[in-house]
Amino acid sequence: MAIKSFHPPQRILMGPGPSDVSPRVLEAMSRPTLGHLDPVFVNMMDEMKELLKYAFQTKNDLTMPVSAPGSAGMETCFVNLVEPGDKVIICQNGVFGGRMKENVERCGGVAVMVQDDWGRAVDPQKLEDALKANPDTKVVAFVHAETSTGALSDAKTLVALAHKHNCLTIVDAVTSLAGVALKVDEWEIDAIYSGTQKCLSCTPGLSPVSFSARAVEKIKNRKSKVQSWFMDLNLVMGYWGGATKRAYHHTAPINSLYGLHESLVILQEETLEKSWARHMKNHLALRAGLEAMGLKFVVPESERLPQLNAISVPEGVDEAAVRNILLSDYQLEIGAGLGAMAGKVWRIGLMGHASNPRNVLVCLGALDDALSRIKAPIKRGVAVEAARIKLA
Ligand SMILES: *Cc1c(COP(=O)(O)O)cnc(C)c1O
Repeated sequence: MAIKSFHPPQRILMGPGPSDVSPRVLEAMSRPTLGHLDPVFVNMMDEMKELLKYAFQTKNDLTMPVSAPGSAGMETCFVNLVEPGDKVIICQNGVFGGRMKENVERCGGVAVMVQDDWGRAVDPQKLEDALKANPDTKVVAFVHAETSTGALSDAKTLVALAHKHNCLTIVDAVTSLAGVALKVDEWEIDAIYSGTQKCLSCTPGLSPVSFSARAVEKIKNRKSKVQSWFMDLNLVMGYWGGATKRAYHHTAPINSLYGLHESLVILQEETLEKSWARHMKNHLALRAGLEAMGLKFVVPESERLPQLNAISVPEGVDEAAVRNILLSDYQLEIGAGLGAMAGKVWRIGLMGHASNPRNVLVCLGALDDALSRIKAPIKRGVAVEAARIKLA
């Protein structure tokens, strides 16, 4: 029997990513493929760099999308900035900090872990203590928006501490970019990576990155070659650089880049400030509904991410059964817990295009129904109304 074309169902993606993709992005991706050195395409790449500089709030020349998902942006930062023997302090408050440790060790670096409770922001005092105890540290790394727990850390303060101790900084902004305030130049972040499938309303598979002049200096003066050929920025710059004539490095994912370009045009039209405000407004509405139902947030109010809502699963409730009802009866995907939080939390994303009033109301109505059907101890029939008041 011949296998037929694949037609995915139309879901509402309210998990930790990928999130709903804007129809404008999907349409842009279906436009004709060009050669990766076609002058028309090269012009689009220049626009893309400008749009990314706006999104990151930076003037950094070395700002571009890595041709692979957020994890590859993470790896690009570490393989270029960490040399064998380099000491790197990693502030870990969730799953993604653990991956940073893996990256450092695979680069031959020495990882010093500063642990914070999962569900809390990174504690600047702990970082300061670690910097004092390890004066030979070269790099400090942390996650701005921990998607595994829903916690937002104070990037500006953490970067300032690192600089006080002469360290470069690597910041994970995969979930924070476009969802909460992020100012690369003002906060003096040295290396930052993000992803397209969270608050940028684009398909998965690209990772915007940006490097400060200080970071570029370090990369140019490395004693050893970057161990990854594909991610060696000295080589990638030959294609994305612009100063010299572009040369073949790898075939860029042309149509995916059309999608990212469109998503950044949408962001520019909305403006960053309005995007941040929209994420907050929809979060507050969702929160009102969830709390009216009797559900509780994992993260304290002042450290919460508006785009990723981690909710404790009530005692005795089968969390997977609830997610299954949402998916099968409402075409709605929410996230399960990750790592140490597996089975204990739900993660409800309101990211990018998916952060809208309809999704807030649909999600609350669906949760009300699903939880009632499995006889969970919640207050029925009040969530949607509580949210609607906040959306007015
Ligand atoms: C999603 C995510 C990543 C990884 O991105 P992928 O595109 O899945 O590779 C890294 N860090 C954080 C904080 C994330 O949320």
